[in-house]
Amino acid sequence: MARLSQQISPSGHTVLVVDDDADLRITVERLLAGQGHAVLSAERGSAALKMLQEHPVDLVLLDYFMPGMTGEDVVRELRAAGHTMQVVLQTGYASERPPRDMLRDLDIQGYHDKSEGPEKLLVWVDAALKMHRHVQAIKVSRDGLNHILQAAPELHRVQSLDSLLRGILLQLQGILGFSGAWVATSVRASEPHSLFAVPEAQAFVIRVATGRYEGSDWAALTELEQLTVLAAGNTGRAMHAPYVALPLRVGERRIGVLLVDPGPQSGVQFDLTLLEVFASQAAVAIENVRLFELATTDDLTGLMNRRAWVSRLGEALHLGARYGHPTSVMMIDVDHFKRVNDTYGHLMGDAVLRLLGETLRRDVRTTDVAARYGGEELAVLLPHTSADGAMIFAERVRQSIAQQELIGPLGTLRITASLGVATDPGHTVHRAGEAADLIHRADQALYQAKAGGRDRVVMEAYTAG
Ligand code: GH3
Ligand code: MG
Ligand code: MG
Repeated sequence: MARLSQQISPSGHTVLVVDDDADLRITVERLLAGQGHAVLSAERGSAALKMLQEHPVDLVLLDYFMPGMTGEDVVRELRAAGHTMQVVLQTGYASERPPRDMLRDLDIQGYHDKSEGPEKLLVWVDAALKMHRHVQAIKVSRDGLNHILQAAPELHRVQSLDSLLRGILLQLQGILGFSGAWVATSVRASEPHSLFAVPEAQAFVIRVATGRYEGSDWAALTELEQLTVLAAGNTGRAMHAPYVALPLRVGERRIGVLLVDPGPQSGVQFDLTLLEVFASQAAVAIENVRLFELATTDDLTGLMNRRAWVSRLGEALHLGARYGHPTSVMMIDVDHFKRVNDTYGHLMGDAVLRLLGETLRRDVRTTDVAARYGGEELAVLLPHTSADGAMIFAERVRQSIAQQELIGPLGTLRITASLGVATDPGHTVHRAGEAADLIHRADQALYQAKAGGRDRVVMEAYTAG
């Protein structure tokens, strides 16, 4: 009669059987395979050690008496080589050292007397593999904790929100221990500045996404993904079902959710508490970036504000003096801006300023720093730029502003601006107030541009020593 072959589900564990007795070895191999374990085997200690170099093994079932190395020798060597898997010694004789002495003196997890039969052997195997899983879980937590500690300086670096969010996703992949994690960040659409996540589906917007989420919006997520994000957002707790969702919270406020698709690793148990610790660090870093942006950005134009810009100018001058390269500044003032307000109203005036901000952002190099210096006065810091270079750039900006057309309710509007440029040659010794001095000189040049008829660039009459 044909035997119905029984499907054995794989345990996910690999066991190495080492025994010089071929019959016994095969019997034990079959016994373990029947439990769903992957089985490797060796008939000598030396062959076993070689095998351990090449294959990850969770448990070694080791015969005590073998020609060449004894089981005891093998244990000492494999521990010396840094292998941390579980080891159960087996013996067929009662003449060896008492089992308790062996357990005390050797780094082994069990000692099985072959005469006690296969059932007892399986008890040792189960116990050792259980221990293996505990050790693995501790290792995962410890590695994750290390990762979080190391990630902190990177998270709290001054950077843009997008670069921070990408950094967070990368760190998360490191903690979870697999690459190719697919991750997305969800934040509230209606309050783009506060990144606030609330339980309504429509309120989520995906801010940064990698892997298979790349380019996805909320609607592109499956229902299960959406539910997992909502559950994490609602409860403020990490979820693993099977997507991993981590709430980003700052105090009582929920500012977003991180979503991870663990893919083929979805059956793996994650240390959710650890992930929550990471998420709370990430949330604080996000909040810091937001506060930093608020404190250094001009609301109307989106350019840097005056205080931050002056401080950047100070740094640039300091570097310029140390390395001997020139630094230029450019002050820009809209011509007859009062007329714009008077004729078209303040809202139109504001729109003009916003457009000017966009023009500047578009035209400057990434190393240049544009700011709103005051009411309708803008400023650009040009590091590594000589007076000649600054003049060419200023002239381009002037033309770009003059060519700009703004469609308003009372027709098409054109504006012009006057520009003053000043350069620090970089051979002066840095001193306090240098930034203020350079700004003042550029302002004087700007005044001359106004006096000379507006819509022009004037370079300071600098007499460098
Ligand atoms: P010019 O510079 O060519 O000498 O003339 P102006 O009319 O631009 O000169 P002034 O500096 O005397 O006036 C600047 C005006 O800019 C005053 C103010 O009404 C306007 N202004 C300053 N800040 C803002 C702002 O944020 N929004 C609007 N709509 N107007 C502003
Ligand atoms: Mg033997
Ligand atoms: Mg003006």
